[in-house]
Amino acid sequence: MNEYEVIVIGAGTAGLGISALLARRGYRVALIEKEPRVGGRASTFTYRGYCVDVGLHALASCSSSGIEALLKDVGAEMDLVPIRPSLMHFDLNTRRYHRATSQEALGEDVYKAFKELVQVVTNMPQEQIDSLHDISSTQWLMGRIGRRELLGFFKKITGFAGQPLDAISAGAFLETLKDAFMSEVTISYPSKGGIKGFSEALAHSFIKRGGTLITELCCQRVKIDNNTVRGISGKKIHPGLAADVEIEAPIVVCTNPVYQLPSLVDSSFINAQTLSKIKSITQDRYWYTGIIAGVEASLFQPFGENQFFQFAVDRLGEDRHLLVTVPSYADPALAPPGRHLVFADDHGPIPLGDDAEACNRLDWVMDMTEEALPGFRNHIDWIMRVRYNDILFTPRTGATGPQYRIGSSVIGVRGLYLAGDACYLSGSGIGSAIKSAWECLREIERDNLLNKSQAGDRK
Ligand SMILES: Cc1cc2nc3c(=O)[nH]c(=O)nc-3n(C[C@H](O)[C@H](O)[C@H](O)COP(=O)(O)OP(=O)(O)OC[C@H]3O[C@@H](n4cnc5c(N)ncnc54)[C@H](O)[C@@H]3O)c2cc1C
Repeated sequence: MNEYEVIVIGAGTAGLGISALLARRGYRVALIEKEPRVGGRASTFTYRGYCVDVGLHALASCSSSGIEALLKDVGAEMDLVPIRPSLMHFDLNTRRYHRATSQEALGEDVYKAFKELVQVVTNMPQEQIDSLHDISSTQWLMGRIGRRELLGFFKKITGFAGQPLDAISAGAFLETLKDAFMSEVTISYPSKGGIKGFSEALAHSFIKRGGTLITELCCQRVKIDNNTVRGISGKKIHPGLAADVEIEAPIVVCTNPVYQLPSLVDSSFINAQTLSKIKSITQDRYWYTGIIAGVEASLFQPFGENQFFQFAVDRLGEDRHLLVTVPSYADPALAPPGRHLVFADDHGPIPLGDDAEACNRLDWVMDMTEEALPGFRNHIDWIMRVRYNDILFTPRTGATGPQYRIGSSVIGVRGLYLAGDACYLSGSGIGSAIKSAWECLREIERDNLLNKSQAGDRK
């Protein structure tokens, strides 16, 4: 008998999610991660006494996107701080804050159109949303609500990392909106430890239920024989050591980036349809730019009561905007006493590798931040100029939705499954990763390759 029934590759949100769900159902799972720590893109590092997330991170629509259900199902213990109000705009012309969805911010007509949209989307059945992945969000919004002003508004406030709505599938857009409108809280943040608080809560639950977490192990190959999964081979990597390792199991779930699949699995095993789906999901990769800084808390004194976790900075008539996030308002322990942690991000994509444009944008971010927070440059303890990649693959028209999703059935290999945000693309990255974990669980249980009596095998 194999020691493990399932090997999960990658301990990011999706890998932790599917591992915890399977362990809770009595599967013997090995979760392998090439880095020394869990969390993948949703992780946190320490720097000069601060706890810094990999990028601005918040959990969107917890109660409707499957995040809360997952935490409950696997018994993960964590407190979330509800961020209220969640969507603020700071207008540079008037130097006033508005709730992004208020009549004051939108104007009477657009506000009415927004209210109509909330009504329409909230009542939309999932099957209807699922049928709208072949048209763009612009097409749908203009056809159904007919207000161009809403396009600019959504570019600023939704996920999709600032991508124009022309490129975004209406289905992905509507699913994200519905989750947001239906959730009790629009965004939340872990009360302790930064975004890694979320990843670590899932990891603890997994280990508590007997799961095995193996870090610093890079999977190099999924072993397949007779179109059937046999296990994986990889390298245990540690300073001064590189050891070849093999682990056997009849089921492997890949949650590492999907574009790596052809290097893990002999391409002859992957059918053409799957390869073309992977290509359409991952064809565009971008950089995003931003700064992270540790600042003196006195920088915010002039703002008095107006202390927000996150706000977009706008200037009337300008297309670009800045997103400022101060996670130490949710958890003061992320920064030393008398200090704040500040993220200021340009919400627009840059072609991967365009150094000159990245430098321009970073200068723009510095200037805009100084304008929004006068004295910023004089209150900095330290600053990082950051380029992010793979925030979220673009949920483009014709690449999302059930008919385009990469599920186990199209792989053509018995026992091989995929999960990860790219496998369930919508507007929220963590939400997509968690939805992919739930979908992967359904497929594993449906195929039931291990002949488990599903109720009886549950712990
Ligand atoms: C800067 C930034 C800001 C973001 N902000 C938000 C936000 O506010 N809200 C939100 O919902 N989403 C946000 N996202 C997106 C979100 O972080 C991701 O969608 C989500 O974390 C993806 O999880 P995943 O498990 O699919 O992938 P990953 O987190 O990428 O996990 C994949 C894991 O596989 C491991 N791995 C790769 N190759 C191998 C191998 N060969 N062997 C073993 N392990 C391997 C990696 O090390 C990694 O741990 C942000 C992303 C970034 C980068």
